[in-house]
Amino acid sequence: MTDTHSSETNAPEKTMGPVPELDELNSFFWTSGADGQLRMQYCEDCQYWQHPPSVCCRKCLNEDIAPKPMSGTGTVAALTVNRMPWIPGLKIPYLLVIVELDEQQGLRLTSAMPAAEPGSVSIGDKVKVSFEQREDVWMPFFALQ
Ligand SMILES: [Zn+2]
Repeated sequence: MTDTHSSETNAPEKTMGPVPELDELNSFFWTSGADGQLRMQYCEDCQYWQHPPSVCCRKCLNEDIAPKPMSGTGTVAALTVNRMPWIPGLKIPYLLVIVELDEQQGLRLTSAMPAAEPGSVSIGDKVKVSFEQREDVWMPFFALQ
């Protein structure tokens, strides 16, 4: 997996950067959208969600943590409009967002809202996840609820 940064000129329009590199820890997250559900690691011992994935719970160091399905809903915590075609074929402009997920205060995911018009989304808006399959990865994106 070293060729994810190739610059094919006839590649379809992209709504975000290259697909992420999968490893043992993060592959569940990037393939979770195959059944339409967002998943993050959850510690049953201390009821704590965490992202990005780690080998143990960041709060209580429990190593027995597992991916758990989530509602996929959240609130826009920060947003920025990207107007730079920083990779070939990237669709611009598009909204980059940081979404705070409903499951836990402070649990945030950096993503994008490719279907939303810049200017139509504000901090505090309620959003819901959707997925776009690219190669063996399901990229989580958000849209207004
Ligand atoms: Zn824990």
